[in-house]
Amino acid sequence: MKAAQISKAGGDFELVEREIPEPGPEQVRVKVEACGICHSDALVKDGNWPGLQYPRIPGHEIAGRIDAIGAGVTNWEKGRRVGVGWHGGHDFVCEQCRRGDFAMCVNRKVTGIDFDGGYAQYMIAPASALAAIPNDLPAEEAGPFMCAGVTVYNALRNSGAHAGDVVGVQGIGGLGHLGVQYARQMGFHTIALGRGRDKEALAKKLGAHQYIDSDVVDPVKELQKLGGARVILATAPSAKAISSVVEGLGVNGNLLIPAAPNDPLTISVMSLIMRRRSVSGWYSGTARDSQDTLEFSVHTGVHPMIEKFPLNRVAEAYERMHSGKVRFRVVLTMD
Ligand SMILES: [Zn+2]
Ligand SMILES: [Zn+2]
Repeated sequence: MKAAQISKAGGDFELVEREIPEPGPEQVRVKVEACGICHSDALVKDGNWPGLQYPRIPGHEIAGRIDAIGAGVTNWEKGRRVGVGWHGGHDFVCEQCRRGDFAMCVNRKVTGIDFDGGYAQYMIAPASALAAIPNDLPAEEAGPFMCAGVTVYNALRNSGAHAGDVVGVQGIGGLGHLGVQYARQMGFHTIALGRGRDKEALAKKLGAHQYIDSDVVDPVKELQKLGGARVILATAPSAKAISSVVEGLGVNGNLLIPAAPNDPLTISVMSLIMRRRSVSGWYSGTARDSQDTLEFSVHTGVHPMIEKFPLNRVAEAYERMHSGKVRFRVVLTMD
C-alpha cells in the first residue's frame, strides 16, 4: 500500500510502499478513502508527543470502509463505512472506564500517534474506535468531523448552555467554522467573534445571528449588551485573544477551550469570582460521540469547508493547512 510517514522528529513526509497490515484480535482493517489533516498532526511531524515511536503514519480524521475483520469483533462487518478519529481506543478496565468515562481512560490511545493513522491506503483500528458513517455523508466530509467536528460539537452539547442562550464562538477557522454551525443548529443565540470585516458574510452564512469584529468594536462590550455569554467557545489559537473575552461572559458563564494556544492565559481571577465564571478545557470524545457528530451534521446540514489533495501531494497539503490561508480543512484522498 501507499503511505505517507514521518521517520524522525522534524522530518519531512516520505511516500513509501508498505505491506498491507493484518488486523489483530478486536481490530479491523479500514480501506481509507479520505483523511483530514489536523493541526495536531504537527505533534508527529515536529516530535512534540512524549514517547512517540517512529516511523509513524499520522492522521486521525479518517473515513473509509471496513476491509477485514479481526478475531472477536462481533458488531461490525466487512464493507461497512466507518470513521476513526483522535480517540483511538481505551482499556475498559481502568477507574475511568469502570465509570463509563472512556475518553478519560488512563491508557487511552490516540490514532496516528500511538499507532499508525490515515495518511495511507489502509490502516488498522480497534473496533472500539469505530464510528458508523451515515449513507448520505461523503468520505471527504466525514473525515474532518472525526476530530475538528466532534471536538466542537461535543464541547457545545456538554457546555450546559440551553436553547436560546447566548453562545459566542471565537475564531472562524478550522474549528470555529464548524462551531458556528453547530451552535446555530443546537438553538443557541449564536455570536461569531472574529477579526476583520471580510469574515462577516461568511459567519452569517454559517448561521451566526451576529458577527462581532474585534478590530472595530470591543467584543466584551458587545457581549455585555446581550447580557453576557453563557458560553464562549474559544477556537482561535491565541492566548491573548482568548484571555481578552472573559469579561464578555455573563453570570455562571464558561470560557470553553477545545484547542491549546502555545502561551498561558492571562485572566483576572477576581472577574471569575465576581460573576461565578469559569474557564475549562474540552477533550475530543469517544467513537460514539463522533458518530453522534456525523448523524447530527447530516440531520441539520452542517458541512465542513474543505480543500482536497491526493495522498502523493501530502507535503503540499500539509503546508497549505499550516499556511493560515486555507478555508478551512485540508483533506487527503487516497485514489
Ligand atoms: Zn485533530
Ligand atoms: Zn480505561
